[in-house]
Amino acid sequence: MSEAPSRPDFDRVMVPCYAPSDFVPVRGEGARVWDQSGREFIDFGGGIAVTSLGHAHPALVAALTEQAGKLWHVSNVYTNEPALRLAERLVQHTFAERVFFANSGAEANEAALKLARRVAFDRFGEDKYEILSFEGSFHGRTFFTVSVGGQAKYSSGFGPRPEGIRHLKYNDLASVAAAISKKTCAVIVEPVIGEGGVIPATPEFLQGLRELTRANDALLIFDEVQSGVGRTGKLYGYELYGVVPDILTSAKGLGGGIPIGAMLTAEQYAKHFSVGVHGTTFGGNPLACAVADKVIEIVSNPEVLAGVTRRADAMAARLNAIAQETGAFKELRNRGLWFGWQLKPEHAGRAKDVLATAAKEGLMLLVAGPDVVRMSPSLVISEADMNDGLERLARAVKSAL
Ligand SMILES: *Cc1c(COP(=O)(O)O)cnc(C)c1O
Repeated sequence: MSEAPSRPDFDRVMVPCYAPSDFVPVRGEGARVWDQSGREFIDFGGGIAVTSLGHAHPALVAALTEQAGKLWHVSNVYTNEPALRLAERLVQHTFAERVFFANSGAEANEAALKLARRVAFDRFGEDKYEILSFEGSFHGRTFFTVSVGGQAKYSSGFGPRPEGIRHLKYNDLASVAAAISKKTCAVIVEPVIGEGGVIPATPEFLQGLRELTRANDALLIFDEVQSGVGRTGKLYGYELYGVVPDILTSAKGLGGGIPIGAMLTAEQYAKHFSVGVHGTTFGGNPLACAVADKVIEIVSNPEVLAGVTRRADAMAARLNAIAQETGAFKELRNRGLWFGWQLKPEHAGRAKDVLATAAKEGLMLLVAGPDVVRMSPSLVISEADMNDGLERLARAVKSAL
């Protein structure tokens, strides 16, 4: 292949489980991205809340290239300095005492769910295995995590699902109180539902889950794969609520674009993953950990977190003004730089039209289901880029709807 590959090649050589946009990004810098033809875009998607510090952040490029010249992989037969530094940093800045590294959000959740089952098995025997989860939630695409996730369409058509999983209504504590029992080993919840539309939990809900899980010897798992690493204006979303989970999972923004996942927990649970009980070849590799360590160093800085909230407030104000001007939106939901913009019922199903029109205006957006436009820009986006993006967004909404 001498010429650059292009979008039609996707349909020829790739498994068709995605439907990518018709342009191919080739380069990024901060909140801007360029495609093959040199067209420039403002990136309000952030690679689905992954490029937490924008594209090609100089400190991350430096961390990556420095580590790239030293050591990429040694396997878990050995430990390595970047993994230990990152774990130390996560322990220092969160409730956690122990960290397990994986390569994605699904793998972090797989580890969390297996740990919860193992703790219950070791402590209470084989009948305590039930997992409570919530409708509309998303926990990844491995068969266990997709079955725990609350969107049946993603887990049907693959044969029998793993047993002992129940889905309840989000933010409905009474249904949890009715369903939870001594057979429950874990409740897994997104403190703010991401893929399902950027829907925050109520404080009473998370507080209630904390009490109910404690009373039933079940573990409380917060899936912070999307809400973590500064997205909400706190390092992790649980800090917004003052509710501390037993296990927390992190991925997406953790690597700023390098694949990495992490499961954080307390020592009393971690010890149930004794030697040989769980593992992964790539989890905790020096390359990914060196980059993630730099991400956490930057994002845990209180000034950076305050900057997220400041940017979020400015962006929300302008989005609300656009909603007023166009009359197209029912509601703007956000926690920090993470927005779910719900279309009015008369525009049902048209979030993807807004996304397509935005691309024509030079703006990258996300959707969360058919009726919600989602945005998760760089946590350090400049004021100029944000304003530029918002102007493009206003034009796109006006021409799409
Ligand atoms: C994206 C996401 C996952 C899955 O992460 P992958 O890295 O795609 O496996 C899990 N949970 C939540 C809340 C997510 O947003």
